[in-house]
Amino acid sequence: MVDVFAFLIEPLPAGDAVTPLAGTFREVDAREPALRVGELSTQRGDGIFETVAVINGYAQEVEAHLARLQRSAALCDLPAPHLPQWRAVVAQAVAALPRSGEFALRMVLSRGVEHGPAPTAWLTVAPSADFAGAREWGIRVVTLERGYAHDLAERAPWLLLGAKTLSYAVNMAAIREARRRGADDVIFVSSDGFVLEGPTSTVILRFGAQIVTPRPSASILHGTTQLSLFEHLQAQDTDSIYRDVPVADLVRADAAWLVSSVRLAAPITAIDDTPLPTRPDETAAFNEYLRSPRD
Ligand code: PLP
Repeated sequence: MVDVFAFLIEPLPAGDAVTPLAGTFREVDAREPALRVGELSTQRGDGIFETVAVINGYAQEVEAHLARLQRSAALCDLPAPHLPQWRAVVAQAVAALPRSGEFALRMVLSRGVEHGPAPTAWLTVAPSADFAGAREWGIRVVTLERGYAHDLAERAPWLLLGAKTLSYAVNMAAIREARRRGADDVIFVSSDGFVLEGPTSTVILRFGAQIVTPRPSASILHGTTQLSLFEHLQAQDTDSIYRDVPVADLVRADAAWLVSSVRLAAPITAIDDTPLPTRPDETAAFNEYLRSPRD
């Protein structure tokens, strides 16, 4: 039975050809404290992360997650991650997992200790939260204001929109607000009336024969699940497009889902108390694809 385990990593400069890489990270006791007081990740949320699903012994979409880690690092002026080093830690962690079951593998790269010489990096693995009910029975969502226009990122890069930073307090507060309103999750909407994303997910909608998802502008994350599912749909010649989605379109949808790496696809049964049709066969097909080994 896997509880939680963790590796501390000495982050190498990108491009550094150190071998063997195994000497640059070590497993630590996940029940013991491992980070230093003064860590900017804990004091200021100053760092970035990725959560990868490991399903039946297979780490899903590792390269897409590493590409986003790289993009987040660039947006946050963090040193570029050493990708072979991260791949080596992921491989070692996955090798220690059972061949069945679902796990969440989290990679974290923080700015390190204040005035310290180097960033801090670590990786944890834990059993996934149980999304079986959400996948099967669906979720109710509410729309909540995010407080900025959907094109703000280009004008205000210091807001780090589009980077997957550790500063998730607002995202978690939004989910608590949804619960207060009798719902399970959230769709954030922009001040100029567009659908953005969930606090930990991407929105996918069906209108008639077409599947639609918000264009990954710099103001929202480009979801690895969104990307993978859309590549799959396009390969099957399913009519599927990325475009800006006005909020008013939400309740006209013929079906809708929140998708993310660990949850996979959860059908939305109601948006702001307006019931939405669900398509159980299509949800099952999405989740069958998302559970299959994917690179
Ligand atoms: N948007 C936000 C804000 C997220 O936090 C996440 C995942 O946690 C996603 C979208 C979906 O990304 P992915 O499909 O890569 O898990």
